[in-house]
Amino acid sequence: MPETLENLIGGRWVPSRASEFLDVHNPATGETIAKTPLSTGEDLDAAVAAAKKAFPAWRDTPPVVRARSLFRFRQLLEEHFEELAATVTREHGKTLDESRGSVRRGIECVEVACGTPSLMMGYGLENIAQGIDCNVIRQPVGVCAAIAPFNFPAMVPLWFLPFAIATGNTFILKPSEQVPLTQRAMARLLERCDLPPGVVNLVHGGRSVVEAICDHPDIRAVSFVGSTPVAKAVYRRATHAGKRVQALGGAKNFVVVMPDADMARATDVITESFFGCAGERCLAGSVLVPVGSAHAEARDRLEAAAKALKVGDGAQRGVGMGPVISAAHREKVVGYIEKGISEGAKVVLDGRGHTVKDRPNGYFLGPTLFDGVRPDMTIGRDEIFGPVASITPVQTLEEAIAVMQAHPNANATSIFTSSGKAAREYARLATASMVGVNIGVAAPMAQFPFGGAKDSFFGDLKAHGRDAYEFYTDKKVVISRWF
Ligand code: NAD
Repeated sequence: MPETLENLIGGRWVPSRASEFLDVHNPATGETIAKTPLSTGEDLDAAVAAAKKAFPAWRDTPPVVRARSLFRFRQLLEEHFEELAATVTREHGKTLDESRGSVRRGIECVEVACGTPSLMMGYGLENIAQGIDCNVIRQPVGVCAAIAPFNFPAMVPLWFLPFAIATGNTFILKPSEQVPLTQRAMARLLERCDLPPGVVNLVHGGRSVVEAICDHPDIRAVSFVGSTPVAKAVYRRATHAGKRVQALGGAKNFVVVMPDADMARATDVITESFFGCAGERCLAGSVLVPVGSAHAEARDRLEAAAKALKVGDGAQRGVGMGPVISAAHREKVVGYIEKGISEGAKVVLDGRGHTVKDRPNGYFLGPTLFDGVRPDMTIGRDEIFGPVASITPVQTLEEAIAVMQAHPNANATSIFTSSGKAAREYARLATASMVGVNIGVAAPMAQFPFGGAKDSFFGDLKAHGRDAYEFYTDKKVVISRWF
């Protein structure tokens, strides 16, 4: 029997009060590997109460001491690196190398948060008037919560958790119900980091826990990562309840290829951008926009590289692309492919019906490539979140910029060129907040802010980097005169 997961509340693993449970699958085999409880509002209340109780003492713990817990966490993440990567692959399906990369990115967030005694500093000015000094100190905001998506079970929670607790907040994590095991494993490591009970809590579940987080009067800040409609709903609901909110939404990322691009070197990174993690990345290329004479070569090279990808169980050596997350998601992606065909896009490569030897029950799809995709077609407009690449050819850089700017999502975008002028113009006019120049996946490192614009991001302060310190602290101004 697959185990039913428990919540971590106030330092103890406790069964949820849930009456509904969701099967967690290994997407490569279809096997059920755990059951996620769809926890109730009462479960969340208990976690908030524990976090609230832990807050005063944790807030008063010196930042250097809080940082030591994170140094310890970092060490444990390193020691359990392979195990965590294997768990990501087992519950999500991406290849082991992709999982390793995502765990590494998560660890980098912990490393940055270890600098909290410096990064949390305020500032001050002596003699703002005769004998009066003014000092800004940063203080934690209280109980914070984060809601994670399915696609990066190790990395995305670490965009938030280390920064929140390093700054003296207490924390509740709500993993995606589809991939709860990596987050459970990381919570177990955190139990060995000298954190008082209640500083980090884990509540499994779905929509009802999310809504309870948005509404709970004792939660001060909410971080969300997921699809645009849910990001928008969470932003509205939680800000309406008076919280600070950062809600990272979906994406449709345009990758422009100029005729002067170094095609041979660009092809690998472009292929990786579109088909890495089976396209289930918020930074994945979605629409290739070749300019003028770049069209035929860019298409043919991408087709050849996609055909050469070995699709299979991500845990096996030599596999270049794993399955998608679930049978339902595969159906959704297949629906988009059918829509592309019916709306008149030209199929260059059709990944439907792809089977993998010895893995008959996995949720596999081969890479799919469409040419002649207009921006008004469903596949040119919607986020597909699967291994489907669309090509929208244009004649000029201006046209490419117009196509990119017209889309409501603005997470990431890239240009491939050897012209500094074209690259500068593209980066300057990009609506997206993460821009790659000859880079396929423009992922900011942990020291920099991560998040998009327009319908890809709701809020003011982005994830990690200095923004995390702004988000997780309140600036208090103390003006003092001594008689
Ligand atoms: P999702 O929106 O379905 O779910 C995200 C979280 O919200 C989960 O924890 C889920 O339990 C919860 N949720 C789902 N439906 C809800 C509802 N109706 N009300 C309240 N909560 C709900 O997203 P997903 O499928 O898990 O993740 C994929 C999406 O996340 C893609 O759109 C992708 O682009 C996006 N994403 C964005 C970023 C970014 O940085 N902008 C990063 C990773 C993923």
